[in-house]
Amino acid sequence: MMRINISRLLQEPWGSLRKYDLDEGSLRLGDDLEVDFLRGTLRLTHTNEGILVQGKLTTQVTLECVRCLEPFAYRLSVNLTERFLPAPAAARDGEALSISNDNSVDLDEPIREAILLALPMRSLCRPDCRGLCPECGQNLNLGQCGCQKEDIDPRLDVLRQLL
Ligand SMILES: [Zn+2]
Ligand SMILES: [Zn+2]
Repeated sequence: MMRINISRLLQEPWGSLRKYDLDEGSLRLGDDLEVDFLRGTLRLTHTNEGILVQGKLTTQVTLECVRCLEPFAYRLSVNLTERFLPAPAAARDGEALSISNDNSVDLDEPIREAILLALPMRSLCRPDCRGLCPECGQNLNLGQCGCQKEDIDPRLDVLRQLL
């Protein structure tokens, strides 16, 4: 849970800034996202309206290749810019998030959204992934399966008989 207490920052003058270095191991964000790690720096600024959170985070998620269906590690960086306002102001604003009653900002959801938005639509384990054989399901990255025999150019077959 990425939750940062901002009680003291809110008592400091506008423009005051806090930096937080993140170096988290495997972490769950919401119901549908699990990351292998989450690293980077968050800058929290006390503004005239609330708290501005800015950050650049690097993370790694496990995706499934759309061609060969194998899981693979995908590393990505995301930029985060999020405004947190006191609850009534956040409700009026519509886009900002609200500061929790205990004077903290919960970053799980904005980080989760930033990562989900940055994931590729079609995830490939590598650009030239050869996928699965449509006949037998063999992962063609690991080797040929033998189903392709009939596809071989007849001229090559002649060559093969000579060998
Ligand atoms: Zn693949
Ligand atoms: Zn096959």
